[in-house]
Amino acid sequence: MSKILIVEDEEKIARFVELELRHEGNEVEKAFDGRTGLELALSGAFDLILLDVMLPGLNGLEVLRRLRNEKDTPVIMLTARDAVMDKVSGLDAGADDYITKPFAIEELLARIRVALKKHGGSSETAARTEQLTVRGVALDCDRHEVTVNGEPVELTNREFELLKTLMKNKNIVLDREKLMNEVCGYDYMGETNIIDVYVRYLRTKIDDKYGVKLITTVRGVGYSIKD
Ligand code: CA
Repeated sequence: MSKILIVEDEEKIARFVELELRHEGNEVEKAFDGRTGLELALSGAFDLILLDVMLPGLNGLEVLRRLRNEKDTPVIMLTARDAVMDKVSGLDAGADDYITKPFAIEELLARIRVALKKHGGSSETAARTEQLTVRGVALDCDRHEVTVNGEPVELTNREFELLKTLMKNKNIVLDREKLMNEVCGYDYMGETNIIDVYVRYLRTKIDDKYGVKLITTVRGVGYSIKD
């Protein structure tokens, strides 16, 4: 069970998310403005904070900045559609992830699980050597090595980063913009179809060669790697 704080002024959204999180067995507190949210975040022991960007009183980015001076509680930002600047600023200010409104509750819950897991793991030194494995494909983050059925596969840096991002977020569909941010950096100004190009390279090097179907295209959304 995790303790989660929702800071969101749209009470309908906050309530809906609260119900879903409680249904999954979490403890939930809510704040409807930035100042209250910050106070709760600083005084309480939360495992995760869902933080809307557009908030009365103190906006979400400011809440995050002030929170980060004192605590590293994982934060997932809720941003408006196409507010690229919010995402960039949020991640710069130390957000762990973001989700664009309107979102599917399943995706939010999946992202929360990932953020909680990541954070729980990072405190254990044993988790330093990060090894990701999906269906015969193994990726060693520290050594920067990928093997398929034990055979090493040569990847470029960006191919490696793309594969790592998809494997880290396995079973979650990631959109091209998110992948581009992870793979090319937040200041990259090129077209998001660059991701399609790297996916094609990965499919040539892994799927075609080893007869697996690793990366799934989700039409109109993006890509995912499923277990
Ligand atoms: Ca809002």
